[in-house]
Amino acid sequence: MSKKVTDVNTLGEFGLIDHLTKDFQRRNTTTKVGIGDDAAVLMYGDAPIVVSTDLLVEGIHFDLIYSPLKHLGYKAIVVNLSDIYAMNARPHQVTVSIAISSKYSVEALEQLYAGIKEACRIYGVDLVGGDTTSSPRGMTISVTAIGTTQEEKITYRSGAQKGDILCVSGNLGGAYLGLQILEREKQLYLDNPGIQPDLEEQKYVLERQLKPEARKDMIDHFDKAQLVPTAMIDVSDGLASDLMHICKASGVGAYIEETKIPLNQEAQLLALKFQLDPVTTALNGGEDYELLFTIKEADLEKIRLMPSTYIIGEITDAKDGVTLHTNGGNIHPLKAQGWNHFKQEE
Ligand code: ADP
Ligand code: MG
Repeated sequence: MSKKVTDVNTLGEFGLIDHLTKDFQRRNTTTKVGIGDDAAVLMYGDAPIVVSTDLLVEGIHFDLIYSPLKHLGYKAIVVNLSDIYAMNARPHQVTVSIAISSKYSVEALEQLYAGIKEACRIYGVDLVGGDTTSSPRGMTISVTAIGTTQEEKITYRSGAQKGDILCVSGNLGGAYLGLQILEREKQLYLDNPGIQPDLEEQKYVLERQLKPEARKDMIDHFDKAQLVPTAMIDVSDGLASDLMHICKASGVGAYIEETKIPLNQEAQLLALKFQLDPVTTALNGGEDYELLFTIKEADLEKIRLMPSTYIIGEITDAKDGVTLHTNGGNIHPLKAQGWNHFKQEE
């Protein structure tokens, strides 16, 4: 009798995580919140500890043809810290684990660690450990970030309520467009290795893709304004997908006003060049690492003068779904079309 074999793609990324982890019991009272948010929350004494981990795989998350190793090291740290900020917490330590094939020289790895060091300096975190091992092919980097905050400031995905205002900390879609440029240049280069890529005019989107920043400054703004968002997530998979995480976790619906989505001008022009709708790149592009958050209507005054805060919509009843109100006055249900990394592997 043959044992049933299920293709890993059938469940989708989040279905798979749910499927694999649903039967785990929580055994320690120090585990306050486990799987399902940007970071886990642990309570040892008064100050909650937040922990988040991410894995970057060569050929899936990065391509060394166009990703300088120094930028890659920087980005590996930043994307993890972004998950800590998404809890309205501040990171203090990271661990970094790498699996490397013999194609990497010591000098190449020095470059990777120069980027890691730079990110640690800029974001004020300490590298406190990790692991190093060999890999049959390519490179894998895993980073774990640890941070803390005050208990009353922790912001989960699950706290949004009907009537809350939906905000985002900056423009969206740029990182995806940067990736499109890099993929195009890679193809040109592979077809004609003598060619010199012309990337001058796309500086902004390339930086969004290759050297993103996490929105540490937003946590300072929240503190200064004495504002605690009701819910928050970092935009790693695209506005549509990440808003859906907030709505699902909070048991609410939401609408976004198309005209309110912040877009960078250079990115918008590029999108049109690629025959892409700039709004679609914001909704489905991903990797922008802006913070998407909701606030109580009563706190509206607190964000009026807050830098980098754009009101893009409102939280509604769950039954109203998650929708986009278009320029033309139509209402479209939003679909999550974030990355599905499994699909890229054969
Ligand atoms: P993010 O995009 O913020 O990094 P993910 O979408 O990667 O978050 O993960 C969603 C949640 O599922 C997180 O709480 C994460 O810790 C958890 N998770 C992801 N993969 C696994 C796994 N293999 N085992 C246990 N928990 C996981
Ligand atoms: Mg996240």
